[in-house]
Amino acid sequence: MPEICKPIIVVSRCLGFEACRYDGQMLHESLVQRLKPFVQIMTVCPEADIGLGTPRHPVRLVRHQGEVHMIQPSTGADLTADMRDYLVGQVSSWSEIDGFLLKGRSPSCGPGGVKIYHGIDKVTGTEKGADMFAAAVSQAFPHAAIEDEGRLRNFHIRETFLMRIFALARLRQLMQQPSVAAISQFHASHKLLLMCFHQDMMRQCGRIAGNSDGLDLAQLMRQYAARFRETLQRQPSQRNIINALYHGYGWASDGLTSAEKKMFVDAVEEYRDERVTLATLQLLLKSYVLRFEHAYLGSQYFLEPYPKALFDLTSSGH
Ligand code: SF4
Repeated sequence: MPEICKPIIVVSRCLGFEACRYDGQMLHESLVQRLKPFVQIMTVCPEADIGLGTPRHPVRLVRHQGEVHMIQPSTGADLTADMRDYLVGQVSSWSEIDGFLLKGRSPSCGPGGVKIYHGIDKVTGTEKGADMFAAAVSQAFPHAAIEDEGRLRNFHIRETFLMRIFALARLRQLMQQPSVAAISQFHASHKLLLMCFHQDMMRQCGRIAGNSDGLDLAQLMRQYAARFRETLQRQPSQRNIINALYHGYGWASDGLTSAEKKMFVDAVEEYRDERVTLATLQLLLKSYVLRFEHAYLGSQYFLEPYPKALFDLTSSGH
């Protein structure tokens, strides 16, 4: 399997780095701990970074005359302008980010499900939304994978997040030293992985990588990167994943006995019924790589889209 390229991710600082929560606590997230050897991490704590101190009185988001404000109810302070200035400086200081792993439901970090109160003094209701930080980073880094620690306890959401950040990191590496041949090779080794996200967009990536329009290298890289990132924003479906599995199998199946073929097809059906994991099927494909010395199948990142050490079957199921 080719070398691992480290994704660059931004993580909420209270998720295992510093006791910076409003109550002076720190949270322990096992995924963050397990990610550490495999990614480059930058941490943020918007509340501490704008000088609120720890411990501190909680803040909340309030919709007032159509605008969302960040308010500290105990002091009545409106922190919206401070937070906006901080965000502009922070976001412009980052050039390349592959993913954000943020504290869910936080008014300062939560990418979704954050309570927005209607009214400052007299609360007339609430709605759910994203906080100012998540809104700013999703605008500045529209292709980055953005999740919160709660959602990442779900196996499928976590797997997609990991697939995305490692694929985006490999793309970044390609963009540092592109060549027409390297783009074509990069696409070839991501074919099955992209197929999981969107089959037609995978083909569009292939057409760009083939450079039938004779683009110059800079244009070619730009167009390929844009379509590759866009493809990764789609949600992988079980149907597409099964299609990718059969594609990989098709490249090696000529050498298999009928009993071995039946075993693969049965295993795919068990995967469809969620009685075996994708990892089982990926292992079967890897065994064909070894047995038939199948370099093309072996080059597919789909067989190991992120480091094995990060594979964890536990799931919140939500
Ligand atoms: S949720 Fe965000 S703002 Fe709150 S303590 Fe954690 S990092 Fe800081």
